[in-house]
Amino acid sequence: MIENIILFKYGGNAMTNQNLKSKVLENICSLKDKGYQVVIIHGGGPFIKETLKVANIESDFVDGLRKTTPEAMEYVEMALKGKVNGSLVSIINEMGYKAVGLSGKDGQTVLAKKHMHEYKKNGKVELVDLGQVGDVARVDTCLIELLLENDFIPVITCIASDKKGLDYNINGDLFAGHIAGALSAEQYIILTDVDGLMLDKDNPASIIHELKVAEINHLKEIKCIQGGMIPKIDSCEIALEKGAKLARIINGTIPEKIATLFENKEIGTAISA
Ligand code: ADP
Ligand code: MG
Repeated sequence: MIENIILFKYGGNAMTNQNLKSKVLENICSLKDKGYQVVIIHGGGPFIKETLKVANIESDFVDGLRKTTPEAMEYVEMALKGKVNGSLVSIINEMGYKAVGLSGKDGQTVLAKKHMHEYKKNGKVELVDLGQVGDVARVDTCLIELLLENDFIPVITCIASDKKGLDYNINGDLFAGHIAGALSAEQYIILTDVDGLMLDKDNPASIIHELKVAEINHLKEIKCIQGGMIPKIDSCEIALEKGAKLARIINGTIPEKIATLFENKEIGTAISA
């Protein structure tokens, strides 16, 4: 087992500005100089949207989730692995660190299985097939560890195949949470576009600095955790349950804070078991 792993989930919305992207990566990589091992997991919703639009591919949505046809999946991979991943790797390499771009398929790091969406209608739950949208079935950390031992920075996008070799797009937050857990990461850090989890999502002063997993259900019941925050909190729960020591949601649009993560305990929302 490798000690001192800090795994970052880097989201699409905190990635669209080039200047900000470089600053975020600079701050993340600076942790390597302090003796930490760094792993970056990323999605890229806005880039998928753009690529599908250029290709003139229309999508159906269920509860805001895109149905992924085989044709759309090809473009999802082009956007995530080709465009977003390639660009992150280039920027890190230019800074003098050695990045390796991967998807969950490489080294069979992540095995996927089909995800069935629970659609609620008139108090009943229906299972809806979203096409090539997947869940994580298992993680094999062998390749990631091999890279870390040799001083590389793995940059991994949230695509994986099932046992038959069919590709799936997996929610980036959940994908990251599973890998953070499997690596027993020291910290699993989600970068997003707000300061952390707020008790009242529209009031930044209501930020919750420390949260225990046992408190999550209540916060869901009172509808404090909504929309894009749901998979983030779920992924923190997965990461902690599977072995990560601490999960933290922080604002990725203020990159200077990343380098001070270990000195300042009041940054973002820290979640522990
Ligand atoms: P990302 O691109 O980083 O995945 P998302 O838009 O998916 O970002 O998720 C972050 C969003 O979650 C915030 O911008 C905010 O609108 C929403 N959100 C929902 N509930 C909360 C909450 N309780 N506290 C903070 N943000 C919340
Ligand atoms: Mg999101």
